[in-house]
Formats: sequence, C-alpha cells, structure tokens
Amino acid sequence: MKRDLSTRSNPDPSVLCAHAGIGLADGDPLVTPLVQSTTFCRDGVGSQAVHQYSRVSNPTVAQLEKALGDLEGAPPAVTFNTGLGAETALFLAVLKAGDHVVCGRSVYGGTTRLLQDVLSPLGVETTFVDSSVPGEVERAVRETTRLVVVESPSNPRLELTDIGACAEAAHRVGALLAVDNTFQTPVLQRPLDLGADITVTSTTKFVDGHSVATGGSIVSRDAALIERVRFIRKSTGGIQSPFGAWLTLLGLKTLPLRLARQSETCARLAAFLDERPELSRVFHPSLATGEQRVLAERQHLDGRDGAVVTIELAGGLPAARVFLESLELCRLVEHIGSVETLVTHPATMTHADLTPEQRAAAGIPEGLIRISVGLEDLGSIADDIGRALEAVGTGEGIEAEGSPCLAGA
Ligand SMILES: *Cc1c(COP(=O)(O)O)cnc(C)c1O
Repeated sequence: MKRDLSTRSNPDPSVLCAHAGIGLADGDPLVTPLVQSTTFCRDGVGSQAVHQYSRVSNPTVAQLEKALGDLEGAPPAVTFNTGLGAETALFLAVLKAGDHVVCGRSVYGGTTRLLQDVLSPLGVETTFVDSSVPGEVERAVRETTRLVVVESPSNPRLELTDIGACAEAAHRVGALLAVDNTFQTPVLQRPLDLGADITVTSTTKFVDGHSVATGGSIVSRDAALIERVRFIRKSTGGIQSPFGAWLTLLGLKTLPLRLARQSETCARLAAFLDERPELSRVFHPSLATGEQRVLAERQHLDGRDGAVVTIELAGGLPAARVFLESLELCRLVEHIGSVETLVTHPATMTHADLTPEQRAAAGIPEGLIRISVGLEDLGSIADDIGRALEAVGTGEGIEAEGSPCLAGA
C-alpha cells in the first residue's frame, strides 16, 4: 500500500498537486475515477454508506475536496459549482439578520454585488473600506461585526492587504476573517497560516487553469465551521459537479508548475511595461515599494507575486480600444488564470455595472487593462503587447467615441 503523502510533515505543494486523487491500494486506478452516479446503493435500512446522494457528497468531488484541504493543512474543503456559490454558502453559514460585515472595497465585483444587493435586503449590513490602507479594517469593525472579507492582491489594481492585521482586527470583536485567495491560490499564498479563518477560492481561475470548469471552494481549519458550510450546501444545493471536480483535479496537478512559470513571466512583463511611455501606470506587486513590498515578501510564497498585471493607458478609452483591437495573441475575455494570455477591459467588462463616478472611486479609469499572463514565452507576449502599444502611440485609429456598455458577469 502506498502512503497518503498529505500525512508527511510539510509535503511540498508540487507533491500534493501531482498526486491529488491518486489511488493508494493495489489495483486502484492511478487517476481519480469520474463517478457520475447521482445516488448510491445501500445494504439495508439505516446504512451508513459514505456517499448517499450527489447533492450531499460524491466520490470524485470528495477527492478534489481532500486535495484542496491538504494544500492548506486543513480538513477537506467544501466545493461548489462556482466561486460565488461558495461565497453564498459561506455568508449563509456565518451571518444572520442584524449582523455586520466589513469588506474590502476592491474585492471581486460579484462579491460586492452579493453583499450589497442580496444580503443587505436580508438584514446584513456591509461596510466597504480600502483594506489595503493600514487601520481601515480595524476602524470599521463593530461589536456586531461577524465577518471580515478581504482579497489580496486586489482586483484589478493588485494592491495588497495585510492579512495578519485584518485577522487581529476581526478577532478583537469575535469576527471571522475570510480571504479570497483566487489570484494567488494556496500554492503562492496560505491565508490560514497568516491568521485568516477561512480561505475562499474561485477554482474557475488558476486552479482549473484551462477554462473548462467553473468552481469554488471554502477551506478552514475550524471543523465546526466546515460542517456548517457543508450543511448549508446540502440544504441549498450548489455542490461542484463530478465532471467539474474531475476536470479541476486534472488542472490542479500542474498548478505549481503553471503558477511558477506564469508568475515569473508576469514579473518580467511588468518590468518591460514599466518602461513604456504609452502607459501612465503599471500595477504589479513586484514593482511595489515601501509597505506594499514588505507585505509581498511576507505573504507571497517563493517570492512569486502572481500572474496578473494591470496597466493604465494614458489615452483613456480611445487608446484602450486601439490597444485591445491591435492585439493578435492576447485574447479579450472576462477571465483570468488560464494557460493563454488574456486581457480584460474592466470599465466595459468586469466593472460595467458601475456608474462612471463609482468606477472613478474604485480606481477603474477607462484606460485600465488587466492582463492575465499565460504559458507562452515572454518574447511572444511582449512582442504582441509592444506592437499594440505602438499602435496606440502613433494615434492610429484613435477617435473619441461614447463608452460601449456591456453587461458584466
Ligand atoms: C471569478 C472570481 C470570483 C467568482 O468566481 P466564479 O467562479 O466566477 O463564481 C470570486 N473572486 C475572485 C477574485 C474571482 O476572480
């Protein structure tokens, strides 16, 4: 019988990922079987079979949950069919009418919408603060605060939040700290080791990595909390599908390799972009100075600052249009974390639901472009972006036009 490698002390993430879901007994399949069955046979009345019905649990999903828990030194994760499904279950598990939430202002737009437009009418009040400014979260917590939600790095400006300081602020009033770790994943940042109580991940992004399976996970070392989230999932639905879990497990096997390469290419691309005159700003933690640099070094593993870089074109929307339409390799989509280099225009895509004033307050000018670096070589990516920047620089095709308005997901 081979050993379950997660029982070693400090197993390397590359080992945990490559061996995720692997069979351990004589004759077991090497790769986790895809069990599509919605239900499971019982021996008799009162059977205690591990799996009974696939809304509650499923063998393929359970393998993904074990792997995601192992990666954070925690019991099995609870997985969902989307990241927002995971967040919804978490909120229902820990909040009730009258409770207060403190949330980072530049978290994922769907998180803001869920708190503002779904939880607020149910009696849960949220205060949004710039969590990257030291002391802001601490000033916003109250006696009724039950949950603090932050994302680091933030989206799309990649500002870092001090996870340890937020944990202290939350715990002082008896609240829990949840960190959305979608951008770094447990391979590049371990929020629970930094003091957080809960990690939320949209596995749709880097964990799957191939843009084939939406999904989300909740991880915590608090067994009672995990039980409660599992109960909410059973009561409301939303479990990850067996095929989604199977695809996500396959993606997970190469996660450390992909993130190491993508993160390194991204830091080198950020340095290249930082020299370009067409850009007014380049946002990436590798370029940060002062307190933000200190946080990057403390929070990010292996000195890797992630595979997303955001640029701001000095020429606003007209320049953004020329830039995006001049790209030949980078694909324009609302997504991050895939093997292909992807670009997003937040003002007309992820943040299109906001008014221009709200976008300005959130730091989303119309010239902002988010780039999720893929597995292509740096030269090919830099050539493509360099050429598109030259098109902007010459002013070719630039003319003032009204904002296109596409609905955000
Ligand atoms: C995409 C995303 C989510 C939501 O995940 P879905 O799987 O799309 O529901 C949450 N947080 C962050 C940071 C994301 O990028």
